Amino acid sequence: MTFCPNFDTLQSTILVSKTFHRVFQTRPKSITRAVAGNIVGPALPQALRVIRFPYDDYDTLDGDLSMATACPEDDKSVITAEEVEKLEENCQVVAELEDIYSLMNKDRTSKTSVLTSEESWRFRRAMYRIMLYCNQFSGTRYTEEEIELNDEEILDKIRKQRTAVLNEYPTDELQQLHSVVQFLRSIFISLSTTDLDFIDSLLSTGPANALRAWQDRSYEVIQDDVEFTMFDDEDDAPLFEGYFSLPFENIWTERKVTPPKEDDPASKWILDQVNGANDTCSQCATPGGLKLYTEANWDRFPIILANLLKKNIKRNQSITQSFFTATAHLVASDALGPFIGDLFDFALKIKPEFDGWERTDSYCLTCLTRFLEEHLWIWFREERIKGGWTPPEDCWYGWNCRTQIHKRYHADTKNHLCAPIKGDPA
Ligand SMILES: [Zn+2]
Ligand SMILES: [Zn+2]
Repeated sequence: MTFCPNFDTLQSTILVSKTFHRVFQTRPKSITRAVAGNIVGPALPQALRVIRFPYDDYDTLDGDLSMATACPEDDKSVITAEEVEKLEENCQVVAELEDIYSLMNKDRTSKTSVLTSEESWRFRRAMYRIMLYCNQFSGTRYTEEEIELNDEEILDKIRKQRTAVLNEYPTDELQQLHSVVQFLRSIFISLSTTDLDFIDSLLSTGPANALRAWQDRSYEVIQDDVEFTMFDDEDDAPLFEGYFSLPFENIWTERKVTPPKEDDPASKWILDQVNGANDTCSQCATPGGLKLYTEANWDRFPIILANLLKKNIKRNQSITQSFFTATAHLVASDALGPFIGDLFDFALKIKPEFDGWERTDSYCLTCLTRFLEEHLWIWFREERIKGGWTPPEDCWYGWNCRTQIHKRYHADTKNHLCAPIKGDPA
């Protein structure tokens, strides 16, 4: 029973027979803890502290530093059914964040984590501690007035409390925690909708919200739920300024540790090895490592599809309107990856100069952009024809035509989804 991978399996096992049930009854506590360990892994003590911490017993606006040591990680008390549910829920969040971390920092070719068990432990232990910290100093604990508060004395008290909480951890585990914060930060930075001034406030909403923002490709999903005044355009939120960085600075100084650099990668302190760190683009040999594009990360390709229409077509409104409709389902969506994959298969059939461009290879941004620009418009022409569209007469200048940009009548009555047969018109 202690080997059951989750509680559903344990439950079914117990229900198999009376004998099995009696076995469980002899050691319910140790079996439950063992199964919890199977789900959460070696970071179980940290995971338990997140759900057991008596948040309501501590007011972060007073000077009491005792929350730093309250409800310690080595609490061995029995795990209740209610706790099991919360553990599974948080574990799901941490596991999904590990997949993203792995894709961004460990191996660009796999959508699921390939971290070693040691690396995974470091990552998860740090992530649960960040979860705890964000709950302890969550923005939802304060009133609107308190969030905007500029009272240096109170701010100082809160910062001391934050420092005290993090100061409980040994230096190496704190460095790991710092790297995981860098990773969460990079999630928000990767969302083009993020105003960088908000990042500390966004971080304070906790790892589960960073995951939601990543999945939704926008931080607005958090904003809608959390409704902090800190998201208002003009307002500062001094309460969240230096949310992690100020306590870290205090601790590095006090412990005489060299502080991590601003541009230290999120892999530092967590990973023993990065796969493909020195890989180059399969077409132009540009070094790219983890930044190269592969099937596993195509769905995060940063350029809007309509901007990849060839040359002047992208400014032909007659075309772009129907293009937007045809590709709306690909915008900020996981469907973009498979779409690009299909485009590789499509390309095989039409352009001999792209022979040898395999969908399984890695590409730099420039090369993948060029590939998309050369094929997307042809794909779109075929799509329209398949949908019953009869192209009007080809314009001589094809995708290169400038008249299509500013003469709507010309754009509507001539086909520009074709290659030029005459040179650039004046
Ligand atoms: Zn390249
Ligand atoms: Zn034209």
